[in-house]
Amino acid sequence: MQGNYLASKNLKSARDQMSYDDVEIEDMEWNEKLQAFTYPCPCGDLFQITKKELRLGEEIARCPSCSLYITVIYNTEDFADSNRKNKNIEPPKRQPVAVT
Ligand SMILES: [Zn+2]
Repeated sequence: MQGNYLASKNLKSARDQMSYDDVEIEDMEWNEKLQAFTYPCPCGDLFQITKKELRLGEEIARCPSCSLYITVIYNTEDFADSNRKNKNIEPPKRQPVAVT
């Protein structure tokens, strides 16, 4: 019995192109109109990825005008919970306790 051999070579489908770049989510810009994080594409358009896609674990931001795409680097946990109820909670301020 030889070990499992993953036939990954056969998975070459739509992603036969190399990712244009790896971009951290912090370097992308939130676009209110598109409701997506965007990053300038060399073709003049924008790579786009929505929060919904990020929540699903998608990490490919595509450009609608050309076939390029980028790999988005982000922490999945940051988008796992969309309902952030703790949004307005300030970090606790440590108050020095005066001990007499
Ligand atoms: Zn493009």
